[in-house]
Amino acid sequence: MLDKEILDILVCIRCKNSLTQSNDDRLDCDQCNISFPIIDDIPRLVDEEVIDNND
Ligand SMILES: [Zn+2]
Repeated sequence: MLDKEILDILVCIRCKNSLTQSNDDRLDCDQCNISFPIIDDIPRLVDEEVIDNND
């Protein structure tokens, strides 16, 4: 898991809401209902990598 201090400063690129980590390789934005992958412990907060949970 990411350090809480790191998690605290990460925000959704779309809505700027804070993110939650539900498992080791995902960060979730509950507001947008999207997730961002974490690859090699690096959160990929880029639009191209967004996992859309609305589908
Ligand atoms: Zn969002």
